[in-house]
Amino acid sequence: YTRKLEHEVKKRTVELQIANTELAELSLTDNLTGLKNRRFLEHQIENQVLKAFHKSAMSAGKREPREQTVLCLFVIDIDNFKSINDTYGHVAGDKVLKQTAERLQQVMRASDYLVRWGGEEFVVAAHFSHRQMASDLADSIIHSMRGETFFVDDNNRETITCSVGFSCFSYQADLPSDNRMSMLFGIADNCLYAAKAAGRNRWVGITEWNQPVSAQLPNTIDALEALDKQGALTLALSKA
Ligand code: GH3
Ligand code: MG
Ligand code: MG
Repeated sequence: YTRKLEHEVKKRTVELQIANTELAELSLTDNLTGLKNRRFLEHQIENQVLKAFHKSAMSAGKREPREQTVLCLFVIDIDNFKSINDTYGHVAGDKVLKQTAERLQQVMRASDYLVRWGGEEFVVAAHFSHRQMASDLADSIIHSMRGETFFVDDNNRETITCSVGFSCFSYQADLPSDNRMSMLFGIADNCLYAAKAAGRNRWVGITEWNQPVSAQLPNTIDALEALDKQGALTLALSKA
């Protein structure tokens, strides 16, 4: 009887572990698009950043040339998405979200993280060996959206665009150790706001800081350009 009971307990334990794994996986995945969700990224990115910080500290100790590697966060927001819902209905809106996820996946590298942040907002976290690569990715994102019309239902296709804000920092940057991530998000969001205000279908990014990183930023392109001219930061903008 004892052996049978032990066997049963073992079996149940394994079942419970499988269920737990599935539950953890589910809670990190977005139902509609199948992409990872916000919770996933918040968890992953801290790990990535800490690892990279450690790596850069090592190379500084060895007096090797400093790494140019940067971490960038992109916040991507579909333009005028509400009007798709209003014109074609919620199901059409869902279809557009799925197509958006597919397009974004096509421009990402395997090492990038793409998540549905919520609603019609997506976030990409990526490491680059050169800052210019961040602008290239922002370009690819914008073009992958506006380049080809979206299916909204069996009879209709629509041109849909997005706006992107991004912020980068190198691991050598003098960032306060707490709130690092929320700071990076805040800056990217700020840039997104500037892109929206400037007319949408474009990107705005801060690729470099020449003074301590600050989340207190103006949110118009003009004011950000003024900070760039003063030498406080390097602003990158999409071409028309
Ligand atoms: P903007 O260019 O300023 O971003 O305008 P917008 O219309 O995209 O932004 P707004 O925030 O006004 O509207 C977002 C809409 O996204 C409102 C909400 O109903 C819709 N939405 C959020 N989540 C979902 C979803 O899962 N499915 C569908 N179909 N719609 C969603
Ligand atoms: Mg939005
Ligand atoms: Mg929107």
